[in-house]
Amino acid sequence: MESDKFEEYGGEMLRYVTSYLDNIRSRRAFPDVEPGFMRGLIPDKAPDDPDSWQDLVKDIERVIMPGVTHWQSPKFFAYFPTSSSYASMLGDMLCNAIGCIGFTWASCPSCTELEVLMMDWLGKMLQLPDAFLFSGPGHGGGVIQGTASEATLMCLLSARTLFYKREREKRAELTMGQLVDSLVAYCSDQAHSSVERAGLIGAVNMRKLETDAKGSLRGDTLKKAILEDKAKGLIPFFLCATSGTTTSCAFDNLKELGPVCEEHGVWMHIDAAYAGSAFICPEFRPLLDGVEHAMSFNFNPHKWLKAMFDCSTLWVQNTDHLRYAFDVDPLYLKHENQGVMPDFRHWQIPLGRRFRSLKLWFVLRLMGVKNLQQSIRKDVRLAHEFETMVKSDPRFEISADVIMGLVCFRLKGPNEISERLLRDVNTGGQIHLVPSKMKDNYFLRLAICAPDTNSDDVKYAWDVIKKAADVIMKSPI
Ligand code: PLP
Repeated sequence: MESDKFEEYGGEMLRYVTSYLDNIRSRRAFPDVEPGFMRGLIPDKAPDDPDSWQDLVKDIERVIMPGVTHWQSPKFFAYFPTSSSYASMLGDMLCNAIGCIGFTWASCPSCTELEVLMMDWLGKMLQLPDAFLFSGPGHGGGVIQGTASEATLMCLLSARTLFYKREREKRAELTMGQLVDSLVAYCSDQAHSSVERAGLIGAVNMRKLETDAKGSLRGDTLKKAILEDKAKGLIPFFLCATSGTTTSCAFDNLKELGPVCEEHGVWMHIDAAYAGSAFICPEFRPLLDGVEHAMSFNFNPHKWLKAMFDCSTLWVQNTDHLRYAFDVDPLYLKHENQGVMPDFRHWQIPLGRRFRSLKLWFVLRLMGVKNLQQSIRKDVRLAHEFETMVKSDPRFEISADVIMGLVCFRLKGPNEISERLLRDVNTGGQIHLVPSKMKDNYFLRLAICAPDTNSDDVKYAWDVIKKAADVIMKSPI
């Protein structure tokens, strides 16, 4: 394709994209297709000669859209949001055009340098302690990872290496295999599945600790577990605390957990994948108090801060722990300015990396902090509007405190009726929700997800849910 065609088709694609997003309310939030639906819609092998642009465009509606779950629809309330904004799309477009792989400073200096600066911009927006910033007094800094799962894994593996180096000073003959048998990591019983997986991948015991009635991990629980494990000769080395759990958006008590970790030399990592974005609002920032005790902190601007997937920001107080965790240095990756600026290849699991800071730069400049704060506040306000509706109906109950843009609710009574409610609501396809469970209590989760969700959409969702409940209550199981 030549550049004149790219301009022509690009213009058409932009019009398709804006029309898709402007009219997204008219589509079902959740598709009505069966597994394998696409097989009959496209040929079973690639064309030998090029297809025309026009034929391809026609197939977007015919082949793709019928099976799309419209995450950006104001009627989509499942999981947590995934950010979308034109500013981010434009940044990604430039990233694609530049098409660099920024694994070292030398492989694309702007890619590394903008990332360093954006991590400090964002860190300051969250009022992270200076110790986490490149511009701070110590060895702090941040890096953009693809996902929160990678960030947790990276920190767990870095902590594992740190402990290995320390233990080898005492026992030179120690192998990593012998060490991992003794290591124990912790998370709460509400932590995201990616934390358990990090333990599996790192081959360490990940102990899930019980949370309090609000789903929060408390300092005393951690302390007890650490003392028990030390008494067994094990080595506690890592805690993944969660700020804003996936199940119910509960917050682990960082101010209690932090000092326990410090006392016992445990690396505290904070997973704030969803809720982290809200810390740019001063009224939510106190929920992050205690972060000063953490070795690492991560959240996903790609969830709630208008930067599109993938953009998961990770800060550490001592960047050397990432830098030297898996130090492999082949000649073809070396360069003359090594050590002056970060070579981010050392800070992540893959080698290759996109110019992801561009979309952050576009978002932060084109929207400004104030607009981003307003958008978070709007979502939290809508969640409270929905909470009020639920509370006004005596058949329902709220299952967890509403702190951010997530409402957990259920029909009073056995789990089965709430399970049926979710099934009926989702089968209708007008809105889309997912369930969760805490201490055997099943509930539905309504998360404010799309950028354009408004009060009418929330009322619409409540109407759909109420009508489904009416039917169920007439013939309960
Ligand atoms: N941690 C929490 C608390 C989450 O809610 C999620 C996803 O919703 C994740 C981790 C995983 O995020 P990612 O897909 O970026 O790995």
